[in-house]
Amino acid sequence: MEYPVYETFHSWQGEGAHLGKSAFFIRLFGCPVHCPWCDSAGTWHPDYVPSEISKRDADSLVEEAKKSNSEFVVVTGGEPCIHDLGPLTEAIRNAGLKCHLETSGAFEIKGVFDWVTLSPKWQALPVQSALDEADEFKVIVEDEGSIERWVEEIGARIGSRPVWLHPEWSRREDRSVLKAITEYVKAHGAPFRAGVQAHKYYKADLFDKNSVSATPLGGDPSLGY
Ligand code: SF4
Repeated sequence: MEYPVYETFHSWQGEGAHLGKSAFFIRLFGCPVHCPWCDSAGTWHPDYVPSEISKRDADSLVEEAKKSNSEFVVVTGGEPCIHDLGPLTEAIRNAGLKCHLETSGAFEIKGVFDWVTLSPKWQALPVQSALDEADEFKVIVEDEGSIERWVEEIGARIGSRPVWLHPEWSRREDRSVLKAITEYVKAHGAPFRAGVQAHKYYKADLFDKNSVSATPLGGDPSLGY
């Protein structure tokens, strides 16, 4: 089986419980969710998709990942779960590598992962089976009401698993968003945690020449969303 690959690169995990660890990223092409502030628009937005997308089999991706000597492989997108990830995760794990997933949870997860980060999106709500498999959640905080809306939607299904509250990147300096996150964590404690996309401050991914510069839509309808 071959996968459409947008990019592969070696960097470090910039978010969540594995923040700061060396990681090899496989960003698959394609996403039907279409978030207005998507930071991987090149995987789906007509204004940003490259003219050609390479197709690669699991073995070639694993060979590249092994050479990186990273602590784990992250399968991301786009929305990687629109693909059957079974052959890819089998190859990664057979090579003795840990395999992580980043998903919106809108589709059933096909494949076996060591760690699943689920970031729910209103444009395509997470399915129960994906929620069950998540090891941590990442809630994108767009405005002062974001956290309460997500807690109402999925709060009863979270249990004690960590919930990272991240300012939506284009609002990372918006005091009302930062205050909402801060006050929520102070008021509720676990499992809620204040978070940030640290790799974006470093522009860490771009130190690998294979990484494609991020194309954040930033929630601006004039960009074509
Ligand atoms: S943020 Fe993720 S789920 Fe949303 S459109 Fe972008 S790749 Fe898809």
